[in-house]
Amino acid sequence: MRGLLVVVSGPSGVGKGTICEVLCRRNDRISLSISATTRSPRAGEVDQVHYYFTTPERFREMIARGELLEWAEVYGDYYGTPRAPVARMLESGRDVILEIDVQGALQVKERTPGAVLIFVWPPSPAELERRLRGRAKDSEEQIARRLEWARTELQAVPKYDYVVVNDQVEDAVCKVEAIMVAEKCRPVYF
Ligand code: 5GP
Repeated sequence: MRGLLVVVSGPSGVGKGTICEVLCRRNDRISLSISATTRSPRAGEVDQVHYYFTTPERFREMIARGELLEWAEVYGDYYGTPRAPVARMLESGRDVILEIDVQGALQVKERTPGAVLIFVWPPSPAELERRLRGRAKDSEEQIARRLEWARTELQAVPKYDYVVVNDQVEDAVCKVEAIMVAEKCRPVYF
């Protein structure tokens, strides 16, 4: 049976990275896709583990050769999903998670029938702001920019298949697992 392609999006600071990490740790049939990006590595990030860090020139070549399943410009840098590894994993029956932004998610929805789109949202906007400050990664200006961008992304929610509110990580992970189990019970997988 072909694997399920799951797209997880949501604002910065909502905890989608943690949800995906726990999900993959707990289920050895689920893989997280590694994106290509032109942004610089942050402390602790490893090339080919967290991202394929690349130059704008190489990224544009990947676009031109049709090597990306989707791509987008996020906060001034390019991000994209290499097509071949995702296709290989799905064919071998593994489920694949793409943790990508809204622009990329909508491209996947258009191009990949059967992809399941999940939007992760915080319990409240005030809680999102609290989490962004708690990460101590961003300046006040960046926090304001991320909150403004979150309001823009919210407009795409009706195009997603599911919304998961991340109040407690464990509950959110269970909800994503339940969505994946239900999606695999659709007649198309029978
Ligand atoms: P960060 O730089 O914080 O790792 O990621 C910034 C944003 O880029 C996040 O919203 C993340 O989901 C998104 N992103 C990461 N990889 C991809 C990708 O391959 N494609 C798209 N469209 N967005 C991505």
